[in-house]
Amino acid sequence: MGLLSSIKKGMGGEEQQMPPTSPPAQTEEARREERATPDRIRVGHVHLCGCTGCVVALTDIYQGLFKVLDDYVDWVYGTTIADVRRIPEMDVALVEGAVCLQDHEQIQDLRTTRLQSKLVVAIGSCACTGNILRFSRGGQVNQPQHESFAPISDLVDVDVHIPTCAPTPQQIRNTIVMAYLLLKGTDDQKALAGRWLKPMMDLARTPFYQKASFNTLMQEVINQGLCMGCGTCAASCPVRAISMEFGKPNGTRDLCINCGACYAQCPRSFFDHDLMEQHESIMELIQGAMAPK
Ligand code: SF4
Ligand code: SF4
Repeated sequence: MGLLSSIKKGMGGEEQQMPPTSPPAQTEEARREERATPDRIRVGHVHLCGCTGCVVALTDIYQGLFKVLDDYVDWVYGTTIADVRRIPEMDVALVEGAVCLQDHEQIQDLRTTRLQSKLVVAIGSCACTGNILRFSRGGQVNQPQHESFAPISDLVDVDVHIPTCAPTPQQIRNTIVMAYLLLKGTDDQKALAGRWLKPMMDLARTPFYQKASFNTLMQEVINQGLCMGCGTCAASCPVRAISMEFGKPNGTRDLCINCGACYAQCPRSFFDHDLMEQHESIMELIQGAMAPK
């Protein structure tokens, strides 16, 4: 039985195997939870294995982050942003990074996050696909035994994928605002927010880019006229199978190992044509939510 299979099997009955992570009740954290504002959503950031680029993008929302924190969100967990040690109940958990299969504590944190959260959002390519960590051989000085990493959807159900490395601050902000409207908005707002989130929910349900190749990128992005020549696909290819020529990606198919990294990183690969018709009303909704009161 492989390492991943044995971990999944263990997760079915691991209550006795894994030590609980929760400290005793009525800590300062528990009291803070009780003070949470009821008409906001409870959001947390769970950091697994990654470069911390996603949380940097999150904090790069600047004024938008203040607005989100002022009006919509109680930030209830996150080792970088909030001093809370126990994973609490959350409406939205933003999970950054791939999960290390040799780190039982991290696996338990991920599992607890799933159990405690209404929406689990894989934020960034490491959480969505494993990204560069798929190619890790381990041997880091401080954790030499950590050598196998997997996307979080290999171990738990994930509701939303925000691929790319790192996602833009606007994409993260809009996801938080849309999650708020989905959970707390009027019926119209819920419908529009659900429409906006659907392509990223579809990605989470069908992580098709795990079997994507350069051909997929060619068929679904470049040949559809969606490529904007940003070069992200070429930069992300681990075997240098893509070069940029005359501003467009050109692939050497013999080199392609079908890792899907180019497709996962391409900011146009999860483009939803149907959403274009609702683009203006969606932008109005987001701008309205972010406008000063
Ligand atoms: S090997 Fe390169 S071209 Fe092929 S799927 Fe991976 S990133 Fe894309
Ligand atoms: S990442 Fe996507 S949009 Fe950017 S150059 Fe490659 S195919 Fe074009």
